Amino acid sequence: MRRFAALPLLLLGLLVTAGAGRAAPAPEAPASALPESLRTAAASLRDEAVRGTRAFEIVRSLTVEVGPRPAGSPADRRAVAWGVRTMRELGFANVRAEAVQVPHWEPGAAAGEITAPWPQPMVLLPLGGSAGTPEGGIEAGVVEFSSLDELEKADPAKVRGQIVFLNKRMERARDGSGYGATVPGRGRGAAVAGKLGAVALLLRSVGTDHNRTPHTGAMRYEEGGPRIPAAALSNPDADLLEAQLASGQPVRFHLSLGSRRLPDEESANVIGEIPGREKPEEIVLLGCHLDSWFPGTGAVDDGAGCAIMMEAARRIGALPQKPRRTIRVVLYANEELGLSGARAYAQVHAAELPQHVLAGESDFGSGRVWRVSSRVAPEALPLVDQIAALLAPLGVAERGGNDAEGGADLIPMAPARVPVISLGQDGIEYFDWHHTANDTLDKIDPKDMDQNVAAWAAVAFAAAEMPGDFGRAPEGEGRE
Ligand SMILES: [Zn+2]
Repeated sequence: MRRFAALPLLLLGLLVTAGAGRAAPAPEAPASALPESLRTAAASLRDEAVRGTRAFEIVRSLTVEVGPRPAGSPADRRAVAWGVRTMRELGFANVRAEAVQVPHWEPGAAAGEITAPWPQPMVLLPLGGSAGTPEGGIEAGVVEFSSLDELEKADPAKVRGQIVFLNKRMERARDGSGYGATVPGRGRGAAVAGKLGAVALLLRSVGTDHNRTPHTGAMRYEEGGPRIPAAALSNPDADLLEAQLASGQPVRFHLSLGSRRLPDEESANVIGEIPGREKPEEIVLLGCHLDSWFPGTGAVDDGAGCAIMMEAARRIGALPQKPRRTIRVVLYANEELGLSGARAYAQVHAAELPQHVLAGESDFGSGRVWRVSSRVAPEALPLVDQIAALLAPLGVAERGGNDAEGGADLIPMAPARVPVISLGQDGIEYFDWHHTANDTLDKIDPKDMDQNVAAWAAVAFAAAEMPGDFGRAPEGEGRE
């Protein structure tokens, strides 16, 4: 019952009759315009946030009091407790931790060195989910590939018994598009190399910096396939290995990883709400992920996103009148090693998903918002234009397409066609720190966070207050 405008009157009458007996109120039709009073209220939320918010204080608290919080670790449980406590302190209603089973993987100690032709120690980290090496490590010759595609076509005779070095550089870009071009090598490199008979994978870090800080991140083995150890070299270390290989002399490498998989653990999605005054069953979801990788304190990934969303919702909740619909903030469990929290949420809340009128996620650090994209019913696009216009005074000048994924944690809700608005952030520096020991609080500019809060507060308020809704999103997952 979402596209009244397009239906003949007779059919409309039938639908209204048919809908009258339903238990749950039907979603509204896409609206054509935001009322003037709504735009004024959203603009004042926006302008007040620019003057200063609590977002930096929230991410400071998470990084100082919890720090690194990989899924399943003791710190992950402390992060859940932090989330519940902090949401209560911020005045959220219905604060709860919804249990989620998560994998538990320990990085262990990692060491590596080139042993020939010119011995040198190397700086590396295990990839998330990697198997460890046998006691004492492994030593083998190194064969280099410039891309996953090239590795997939390799002659097994060249690879068997060797360590594969996957040497693809990530390009720096404001929208982070270099990540998508390199990250498949991290995810699948070890599975592909293992099938060809390799004994280990060394990956040039998926990152844009020139620091000696390797970038970890998730990798996966194939079911029943070989499980060879996999590690990321920092960019300068990858340069060094590349230079020794360029000599044409045989290069040998010794790798030792203490990584191991432990039994699954319980974690939780932490949820808090600003209940709607008229349609509490209709939900505007603001998401982020609570877990982080082990080397840094998870300030930019994704402490910043959680602080932005919590503060945006808190400011709406502090208005004299609550919006018509409910705003629900979800701090997802284990995004990094397999979207456990997002999958559990989509399952547990399956019956509610048709009444999720909008979802958004902040998971790209704290850089300023510069673009608005969406995945909504096409007839609701004029509304997205009007919301985007509300953000123009924040320097948000660009409109993206209507095929936004919106964030990894929103992917499991895509089959329910939950509409998405995605606020593209400036990621020019994000991949200098992403998944490294340098993901720390000092990388965050509080004013940039305030700009993000201002943008999300305006978007969430408009979605929760407006007459009508965004219809349902087109089929498909969309892209970032
Ligand atoms: Zn993240």
